[in-house]
Amino acid sequence: MTGVRSTDPVGLLCELVLQGDQRIAALNNVDGDASPVATLVRAGLLVPDGVVETTICDACGEPHVVNVEFDPDRQTHGWRCPDAGFVAASEESVAALAFSVGRVVESLSEAFSDAFGRRPPTARLLEGTTAWLVGMWTIGGSATRIVLACGFDDVRAARRTREMLLALSPLEAGLVLSVDADVEFEPVREFAAVAFDEVVSIDGQDRVSLNAGLLQFAVAAFAAQRHAVHVGRPSVGPAIHAVLDQLAARGEIERGSEGIFRLAKQEWLRLHPTAPLPKDSTIRKHVRIWRRTGF
Ligand SMILES: [Zn+2]
Repeated sequence: MTGVRSTDPVGLLCELVLQGDQRIAALNNVDGDASPVATLVRAGLLVPDGVVETTICDACGEPHVVNVEFDPDRQTHGWRCPDAGFVAASEESVAALAFSVGRVVESLSEAFSDAFGRRPPTARLLEGTTAWLVGMWTIGGSATRIVLACGFDDVRAARRTREMLLALSPLEAGLVLSVDADVEFEPVREFAAVAFDEVVSIDGQDRVSLNAGLLQFAVAAFAAQRHAVHVGRPSVGPAIHAVLDQLAARGEIERGSEGIFRLAKQEWLRLHPTAPLPKDSTIRKHVRIWRRTGF
């Protein structure tokens, strides 16, 4: 159980993402419906999850930490205080809320689909890092991987994340949504960094929404570079990576490059029945590149 301080929902969201999966007391909701906690509950980013394990006794002269228990006789939650005896607690005063980074990533994926076209969910934690691959969307004409990253102040996690991003690079562009406001993210090849709290907001309908203009602006630099290098040559790499991401998201990835190659070919034919099938050597090359990202 950690203390939460932010007075705006996105600031609170950044704090929670940095702290990782946890349960918080719903009592942080001191300002009622207008509080950041209440906003995150309505947005589905904090979910009711039973009662807290401990709370502070306010029934005697001196505040002290107590274990919350259920009293079957009285049919209520409460705690035992040496001075006041059993103190019955209202359900709201001991309610707990669950937070998970995975749920934030799901909401981000929805928001990107709202802004840039629906994609099947392919989010996954990048193995050995604190970064999540949120998915891939076409932003400003570039196939763009979106990564949610935090924990750059941990040297080992930061190095591993950079290695992962390098391995993920064959796509046309990438954006790292960086949660640490205090830690500078060094760009990795095609990946630019944007601050999470600059592009993410909670809109009037309590939904996670994105500043699409700023995201397009951040990706535009890559499109300019690419067109200077090879004009008008479409790349099948991003499409093959998207096929592999989908297989992985469905848990259908086999061991070994050859099995993955076979599956990728089948999945390509299913997803793109009218598009030309890439050459075997091209599919194999991209399976190799993709596997370096942790599979
Ligand atoms: Zn007490």
